[in-house]
Amino acid sequence: MENRVPILNLWVDPVTMGQALDAVTGFVERGTRVHSIFAVNPEKNFSVPKDPSLYESFKNADLLIPDGVGVVLAARLLHGLRLERVPGVELMHSICALSARRGYGVFIFGAREAVNEAAVNALRELYPGIRIVGRANGYLGEEAEAGLVERINRSGAQVLFLALGSPKQERWLARNAEQLTHIRVCQGIGGTLDTIAGTVRRAPDAWIRLGLEWLYRLLSDPRRLKRQSVLPLFAAAVATARLRGTKLPCRGAGGEGAGL
Ligand code: UDP
Repeated sequence: MENRVPILNLWVDPVTMGQALDAVTGFVERGTRVHSIFAVNPEKNFSVPKDPSLYESFKNADLLIPDGVGVVLAARLLHGLRLERVPGVELMHSICALSARRGYGVFIFGAREAVNEAAVNALRELYPGIRIVGRANGYLGEEAEAGLVERINRSGAQVLFLALGSPKQERWLARNAEQLTHIRVCQGIGGTLDTIAGTVRRAPDAWIRLGLEWLYRLLSDPRRLKRQSVLPLFAAAVATARLRGTKLPCRGAGGEGAGL
């Protein structure tokens, strides 16, 4: 995207939900290759740069959505930008609604078998007419990968949701993007199928509005503590960059990475 915004070690695209959906429509209806959509959050800010090929995947992603409040606040402090939060889970729902309206074929890959099946059933109820043309759980093993890619291609799906968690899903796409012949949009959705299937509850609206979804997730699954322990580090790094007046240049047109 033209005006991609640097946030410490990564970037984010300053899109609204509506603009993200317009981009998806363009990817499906005018694209000739797979376009990747990944979420950016404080945890990835530290983990992604440690792996050069993962870092490349993020750098070349077609859409990096401001998934959480951490990145939105960082953009405000570092660049004075007021970004709208575009949570991956909400973008996935919106892409499903769009796909139902416009007849895009959807393939849903990831999560445990029962979760995947329940989520697909729930999506069919939520979005009548949606063409979910294939699904697979996320525990097939690497030896089944070529067969799965073949299945995705034969399904004719244009939209692929990858629910393997990060960084598994981004690595899977890096390995397989060139073999995907019909997919035009691929969104990494992490644990979203668990919330759709109802095995994991999303935070109540009031918590989301207060920017406390991360705290709700932490309280409901304390095993996330290790992962979320980077939040204070992220806040400190943003504060330090702000105090130093580090105003990283926002990427201009013609910069690195693929365009929207
Ligand atoms: N998962 C999977 N295959 C794997 C590992 C994980 O399908 O080999 C699924 C897991 O069942 C869960 C999701 O990936 O549904 C990971 O959820 P998490 O909330 O950890 O991901 P995040 O949203 O934090 O990236």
